[in-house]
Amino acid sequence: MRWYRQLHWQILLGLVLGGLYGVAAARLGWGGFTAAWVAPFGTIFLNALKLIAVPLVLASLITGVASLGDLRTLGRIGGKTVGLYLVTTAIAVTIGLVLATTLKPGRTVPPEVRAELEAAYASDATEREAGAREAVESRGPLQLLVDIVPDNAVAATADNGRMLQVVFLALLLGVGLVRVPADTGRPVREFFASLSDVVIRLVELIMRAAPVGVFALIAGTITSIAGDDPSRIARLLGALGAYIGVVVAGLALHAGVVYPAILRLLTPMPIRRFARGIAPAQLFAFSSSSSGATLPVTMECVRDQLGVSEEVSSFVLPLGATINMDGTALYQAVAATFIAQALGMELTFAQQGTVVLTAVLASIGTAAVPGVGIVMLVIILEAIGVPAAGIALILGVDRPLDMLRTAVNVTGDATVATVVAASEGQLDLGERGAGSGERAAGPVPPLPA
Ligand code: ASP
Repeated sequence: MRWYRQLHWQILLGLVLGGLYGVAAARLGWGGFTAAWVAPFGTIFLNALKLIAVPLVLASLITGVASLGDLRTLGRIGGKTVGLYLVTTAIAVTIGLVLATTLKPGRTVPPEVRAELEAAYASDATEREAGAREAVESRGPLQLLVDIVPDNAVAATADNGRMLQVVFLALLLGVGLVRVPADTGRPVREFFASLSDVVIRLVELIMRAAPVGVFALIAGTITSIAGDDPSRIARLLGALGAYIGVVVAGLALHAGVVYPAILRLLTPMPIRRFARGIAPAQLFAFSSSSSGATLPVTMECVRDQLGVSEEVSSFVLPLGATINMDGTALYQAVAATFIAQALGMELTFAQQGTVVLTAVLASIGTAAVPGVGIVMLVIILEAIGVPAAGIALILGVDRPLDMLRTAVNVTGDATVATVVAASEGQLDLGERGAGSGERAAGPVPPLPA
């Protein structure tokens, strides 16, 4: 039995107990105690996972590209992967936009609540706005591309926020490996393959602390939202209920209808098996709010439970964790529309088009760590001329929505990995990893084009 199958229930228990503790702590006025003595265990746990994110992405992508063997295969699989990532993200943004413009959640915020929220989160919002502005200032139209290419390999790997640069470096090294004679490349290839295995074992080790880590993360999140006054949560939920409802409905639609439809149309994967196989990764993404920290778990689930080959998963998943964020893009579309509506503005058709384009790009640029989606939202708001300070309206409820959108982000990566594997004849739907240890069936043949 795989390590996370037993852990799954323990993590769920940590989640529930952490939630109960968080509510009790807020009621009993233990906010200070929780922040000082409980929440740090969550941070330590998350840090440990972030610590191995760069080596994991680097090693598994280099190994992934090198194992594709030649540049034509890389081009074919890379093209399919990026194409599917872009299409699914565009669908997600469209769902968010359509729901938000038809249901108009921004209309439900009374002006006095709006003023209260703006006052409460103004300084926090200004800080994030400044961060985002610094990032976009003096940006030409091609700045996104410029940012992807690092000028220093060590600096690129020294910052989790520069994961796109790490991806670029890994792709480049992988291409180099494919182009040198097999004998010359062997030591480098073997080193990174071995590093990738070592890091995955480390993840298993760190994940043993997941129930405690998740308990601490959830408890810390609840007490930091509620402070010492649990009625604050109820007030926030009341004022932003419609907004939260639209985000949740959009995410549910995307994860519950769009992904299953894609799987059904393009793969022989039974939906139930997919849902059960990916559940540990979703649960972990939900608790950690970081698809980067979840990557190792996603990789294990996709390989062992869904039967996607190592070759495909080690290329598609690290790339997806970095550039594919359907949940984030959907949320950004709803949030941008909501803020505009709450400030009394109606988005024109052209502005809606801009939202689709910028949300797809912003989600690609969003680092796979907690809370970055809302920072990148500033870029979208600026592009459509809505005051970016409006993020103050939604900051208070961002964390729970971040948890949900991150779970959708990893589900999207797993869906695309399954589709790419099926199209390449690299999806093994035998009983692999399901407990029996047997491989009942070989790989399914590639789908006809
Ligand atoms: N937390 C998200 C992730 O890691 C990014 C975001 O939307 O803030 O996938």
